[in-house]
This record gives sequence, structure tokens and C-alpha cells, in this order.
Amino acid sequence: MPTLSPGALRTPPSGIRRVFDLARAQPRPVIELHVGEPSFSPPAHVVEAAQRGYAEGRTHYTPNGGLPELRAAIAADLAARQGVATAPEQVVVTAGGMQALHLALSMVLGPGDEVLLPDPGWPNFVMAVRLLGAVPVGYPLSPERGFRPDADAVAALVTERTRAILVNTPSNPLGSVLPAADVEALVRLAEAHDLWLLSDECYESLVFPGAEHVSARRFDTTERVVGLHSFSKTYAMTGVRVGHLVAPVELAARACAVQEAVVSCVNEPAQLGALAALTGPQDAVAAMAASYAARRDAATALLDAAGAAYLRPQGAFYLWVDVRPWAGTDVAAWTERMVVERGVALAPGTAFGPSGEGWVRVSLASATEDLVEGLGRVTAASPAA
Ligand code: PMP
Repeated sequence: MPTLSPGALRTPPSGIRRVFDLARAQPRPVIELHVGEPSFSPPAHVVEAAQRGYAEGRTHYTPNGGLPELRAAIAADLAARQGVATAPEQVVVTAGGMQALHLALSMVLGPGDEVLLPDPGWPNFVMAVRLLGAVPVGYPLSPERGFRPDADAVAALVTERTRAILVNTPSNPLGSVLPAADVEALVRLAEAHDLWLLSDECYESLVFPGAEHVSARRFDTTERVVGLHSFSKTYAMTGVRVGHLVAPVELAARACAVQEAVVSCVNEPAQLGALAALTGPQDAVAAMAASYAARRDAATALLDAAGAAYLRPQGAFYLWVDVRPWAGTDVAAWTERMVVERGVALAPGTAFGPSGEGWVRVSLASATEDLVEGLGRVTAASPAA
């Protein structure tokens, strides 16, 4: 076989996938708390709109940037929610938030360029950066600072090769929601060093009472923020694969041309489903967010009773738990033992970066009974029990 590309060879496998494979290889069913997959189905009107698309022959290429009516609806929605004027030409419809991320990175990074990424952060950030031959540089989010970025410490990581900083709020894996002042500080930092700021807001609709999601676009006066969005979590339609990016017009126009070389366009019926999701009733979104908040409360009550430390989630559907008293200094090995010995799969913190050692991510997207049973089994394994 001829050699593979350096980018492909440097793309690391996901550390969550290891637990996934081990869980599936067990003789008995394992309670799966390691994956971020909503336990809900998309609202019926979304499914019907996509089905109607197939039935009515809406099964062709669309413009690279997406159906004009979908781009217009997304722009109007962003303008209303963010309070930032947004033209349809600034929106590019993508195959999920993941492809928005890849497309945005491919618009701003060349081989050897550096990008600042949250640590802990979603593993796909590192994977996509590596695939493009660029260099991921983690900025730590530490318990000592409440998992909030320290703008001065981030600035100290900027080099001549740094091209972009990525911000993810609400956060996967932390479930944290950055206060407006932190978001603004990172936009100012990007300005000071002439960087792009990629703002992953894929969990923007899942924010619990008391917290508020603030988009980096609110503070962007110099056309450097690119928003990354997804229908996957908001409407429980992960497999439909629709997301989008919103960017300065010039970048978005180029991204439409680049999209031709990647997927040409997103599946047309899927785009029609997304349009129905955005323009139809929103009650399912609020109901799902309320369910995740209730699961958070059930899970944290259990952890409180077991004396476990954790970061109280304010959004997304993840719970970041300190398992150092049980796992010691090798959380990856401990999560594997939990699969084999206790039949519970958790995502090891180290899958999200070196700062995750000693922590695990628990998915609140799992059904409540699974959460309670799974966490019960894990805390029963604790030295305190
Ligand atoms: N960003 C983050 C932080 C995520 O956790 C995910 C999904 N796990 C995505 C983006 C992309 O989701 P999708 O490709 O399903 O839209």
C-alpha cells in the first residue's frame, strides 16, 4: 500500500471510542453514560418535512451554501436571538456542526499553523486540526479557576504561528456556560493578536435556569468571529446531519466555494427537515432542556449523597465528575475497570485532553433510570461505601 497522508496519520483516535468498543464487547449489557446521544426523537413535524421532501422529489443538489429559504431562516433566527444583524449570505449550511467546524478550520488554517483549543475540550477539535496538518495547542480550564479561561494565560500561548482560538460554550465535556465577560475577554484577545475566533455554540439551546448563553458574535466589531451551530442537539436530530456556520460575508462566500470540494451541498430533505425545525413550534426544545435539567438534579443528588465532587452543569448535557478518590492518577484504566467490573461506561476525562486526568464525563442525555442505576453502581464502588 502507498503511504497515507501525514494529516490522516496524525489524526488521533477518540478516547471515548475505546470505552464504547469495550462496553459493546461485554457479555452482559452495559449502562452507557459515555455518549452524547439524546434519548429523544426529533419532533414529528421535522421528520414529516424531510419525508415530504423525498416524496415530492426534493432530492437534488441545492446551492453550496444551502437552500436559500433555510439560510434566510437561520439568519433571521440568529439576528433575533443574538441581537446581531445577520444576512443570509453570512450563513453556510453544513453536514452537522462537525462539518461546520472542519470547514471553518479549513478556511483559516494552513499546515503548521497553531490553533488554541480548550483543554478539556471535545476530542474532535484536536482531530480536525490534526487532519488539516495544523497544530492544536491546549489552553487549560482548571478547577482552581472554576474551569473558566484565564485570558492572560491564553495570551501567553500565542506565537507567530497562532491563527485562531476556539471557544466552546455551553461546553462539552464540562457542561459549563461562560459568563459574558469571559466571552468578551476572548474576543478582545483575538483582536489584540489578530486571530480568528471560532465559537462553537452547538449546545446553545440547552441552557439551564439561572445561566445565559452569550454568543461571541455580540462582541465582534472587527469581523473575526465564526459561529459554529448545529440542529443535532437542539432538535434531537443527530443522524440527520445539519448544522451551519455564520461568518463575515467574505469568509462565507469562500466557504460556499470550498463546500463544493467537500460535500457539494447538504442532503436536500435533511435541509427541509431543518427548515421545519427552525420555523415550526419550539415546545419540544424547551421540554428537552427541562428533562436534561431534571436529570442533572437527579444525578447530582446521588453524587452529593456519595460525597463526590463535580462541576454543576449549567448547560449542554454533560456532568464533569472528580473521581480522583477512586481512580487515582489513571482515569482511563479506571473507566475500563468500571465497564468490566460494574457494567457502567463513562467517558474518561483524558479523552478530552491532559487536564481531564482524574475526571470523568457523564452524559445526561442517557435516560434517567440508566443515570441513577449507573451512578449508583459507580459510587457503590467508592472507598467511602
Ligand atoms: N461541537 C461540540 C462541542 C459537540 O459536542 C458536537 C457533537 N458532539 C458538535 C460540535 C457537532 O455535532 P454534530 O456534528 O452532530 O452537529
